[in-house]
Amino acid sequence: LRANFSVIQKETGFVNGLITVLHDITEQEKIDMERREFVANVSHELRTPLTTMRSYLEALADGAWRDETIAPNFLEVTQNETERLIRLVNDLLQLSKMDSKDYRLTTEWINFVDFYNRIIDRFEFTKEQNVVFERQLLDHAAFVEFDEDKLTQILVNIISNALKYSPEGGKITFRMIEKEQHLIISVSDEGVGIPKENIGQIFERFYRVDKARTRKLGGTGLGLAIAKEMVEAHGGEIWAESEEGKGTTVSFSLPYVPTEEEDWS
Ligand code: ADP
Repeated sequence: LRANFSVIQKETGFVNGLITVLHDITEQEKIDMERREFVANVSHELRTPLTTMRSYLEALADGAWRDETIAPNFLEVTQNETERLIRLVNDLLQLSKMDSKDYRLTTEWINFVDFYNRIIDRFEFTKEQNVVFERQLLDHAAFVEFDEDKLTQILVNIISNALKYSPEGGKITFRMIEKEQHLIISVSDEGVGIPKENIGQIFERFYRVDKARTRKLGGTGLGLAIAKEMVEAHGGEIWAESEEGKGTTVSFSLPYVPTEEEDWS
C-alpha cells in the first residue's frame, strides 16, 4: 500500500491523501459494523432463552404449578434454558478474554497421544448415546508444546459437536497423523453433515447451519469460533470437510517437530 501511495502521489499529488483516508474509514467502518453485529447477536441470543423462561414462569405463577404433570415439565424447560444461558455467558467471557491484549498461553511439552487418549476416555465413559468410538492415533509418542486447558477446550467443542450430530449407532473416528512439521488431529462423525455452501461459515461467531435444530441441541453457536481462535493462538489452522447425509470431519493442525526417540511414552 505504501509503495502505491508514493507513485500515485507523484502523478496526482493532492488526491492521493484522500484515497488513503477513505481506505482507513472503510477499515474502521468494517470494525464498527462487526462490533454492532456482534452486540446485536449477543442481545438476541440472550433474549431468546429469557423470553422463553418468562412465559413458562408466568404460566407456572398463573396456576400451572398445581398441575403435577405440567409443572415438572415447565420447570425442566426453564432449567435447560438457564443452563444454556450459563454456557453462553461462559463462551462470551472466553471470547472476550481472547480478544484482550494480555491473553497468554500457558504451555508445556506434552505427549499428544496420551493427552488425546485421556480426552477421548472422558467422553467414552460419560457418553449417553449409542455411538462407537474408533481411535487411529500415532503408535509412538508425539511431544508438542501447548496449553493443556485450551487444547482440552478445542477438543471438547469439536467432540461434543460430533456426538450431538451423530445418529444412533454411528461411529466417531479419532485420528492423528504427522504431516510436514505439523500434527493433524481430526474427529470424524457419520452425522447429518454440513452443506458445501455453509462449510466456510461454521467457524464464525453465532453461525449455525440449522438455527432451530442446534438451539434445541443446546448449542451456543460459539464453540467452533472459540476453537478456531485457540488453534490459531497455537500457530495452527482449523478446517472442516463434510458430505451431507454422510458425515463431517473437523481437523486442526499444530506445529510439531518429530523426534528420533520413539520410546518416550
Ligand atoms: P453450536 O454450539 O451451535 O454447535 P458451533 O460453533 O460448535 O456451535 O458449530 C457451529 C455450527 O456448525 C453448528 O450449529 C452446526 O450447524 C455446525 N456443525 C458443527 N459441527 C458439526 C458436525 N459435526 N456435524 C454437523 N454440523 C456441525
